[in-house]
Amino acid sequence: MDFTLSAEQRALRDRARAFAREVLAPTVDELDHRQEFPAAELRAAAELGLTGLAVPERHDGRPADALGTALVYEEVARVSAAVCVILSVHNSLVAHIVERYGDEEQRARYLPRLARGEILGSYALTEAESGSDAGAMRTTARRDGDGWVLDGRKRFITTAPYAGLFVVFAVTDPAVRPADGVSAFLVEPGFPGFSLGPESLKMGLLSSKIAELRFDGCRVPAANLLGEAGRGFRMALELLDTGRIGIGAQAVGIAQAALDAALDYSRGREQFGQPIAQFQAIQWRLADMQTQLDAARLLVYRAAALKDAGKPFAREAATAKLFASEAAKFCADGAVQVHGGYGYLKEYPVERYYRDAKACELYEGTSEIQRLVIARHLLRGNRGEIA
Ligand SMILES: Cc1cc2nc3c(=O)[nH]c(=O)nc-3n(C[C@H](O)[C@H](O)[C@H](O)COP(=O)(O)OP(=O)(O)OC[C@H]3O[C@@H](n4cnc5c(N)ncnc54)[C@H](O)[C@@H]3O)c2cc1C
Repeated sequence: MDFTLSAEQRALRDRARAFAREVLAPTVDELDHRQEFPAAELRAAAELGLTGLAVPERHDGRPADALGTALVYEEVARVSAAVCVILSVHNSLVAHIVERYGDEEQRARYLPRLARGEILGSYALTEAESGSDAGAMRTTARRDGDGWVLDGRKRFITTAPYAGLFVVFAVTDPAVRPADGVSAFLVEPGFPGFSLGPESLKMGLLSSKIAELRFDGCRVPAANLLGEAGRGFRMALELLDTGRIGIGAQAVGIAQAALDAALDYSRGREQFGQPIAQFQAIQWRLADMQTQLDAARLLVYRAAALKDAGKPFAREAATAKLFASEAAKFCADGAVQVHGGYGYLKEYPVERYYRDAKACELYEGTSEIQRLVIARHLLRGNRGEIA
């Protein structure tokens, strides 16, 4: 597989790198400490087209292929994993699903505003009782006159307090759920019967916000059914395959940041009369971090390249997400260790990497679910191109 970057991909990566260094780096720690949403930073991202990666030009987007998108997420996460997860849900889940399954009217109504960053997107699948087992969702939608009525609760919804568009999955036909009995809806925060529940406080990604969504007889116009009724569960799963490449790329960005920090610190910190980088124990740790990072990056690029080539990539995306999120945790842990006690202080960013890396093992399918997906593909005889 050839990972030579095209001129467009290199330019996009450089644009994202400059944005991360110039716009995100100055505020990332302060926003994390204050647990503040990065509103100004997202406006700057929008000006650079980073909110329109999944939107075609005719709807004001700056479309990127899967590898280009992964490069953006990697560069952004290298500085702010919180901004990365907001952009990844917005682009790879919300804008992507509207572009892929929306009708012309829905695309024209939502894509330009998503692309220009005038509204942010949220993706609402998880509920209190249904996480990994998404098909067990309880939120319902019933047809009523000229629209639908939604009832239920969603939990863990990234960007919920700031979103202007929610993609919401609900059961429309309990008899054939989940495969044919779930539908997707485009919900705006002003729709009657919709309200935000409490925000959940969390371990990391502190400037990205998650909250509960409440649907109490929420009226959704018929025109806001996304795709065919009953196809929502298949759409959700298909989208998550793409989303996983994004989370893998996010993990690679965190792992790179952790290695950069560990390398820097080990050169400057002296103990026993010499830089700690001179100790073989430190060198081996750095070497192991680099090795994990290289492997993770290659797996993410492979999954993205397969998608760009129009080939099956679901197993490879799960493999990349699984490995890269474990690599991010490994590298963040290594970076804290190399920093010694200072790694545990807020004075250095490595404790943030450690907290942020953990999330990659949880959302868009836990590591156990990735293993399940990979094993299912293997048992079906899909061993990939290289086997
Ligand atoms: C920071 C953050 C942001 C999120 N953002 C969103 C969002 O924007 N939209 C959204 O819809 N959701 C979001 N989520 C929810 C996330 O996708 C779920 O938390 C995740 O799918 C796991 O579900 P759960 O938490 O209910 O865990 P559970 O499914 O209850 O799992 C608990 C444990 O059991 C394991 N387990 C479950 N089933 C199996 C199995 N069959 N085999 C082996 N082990 C199993 C799991 O791997 C895990 O270790 C977010 C979560 C977090 C932490």
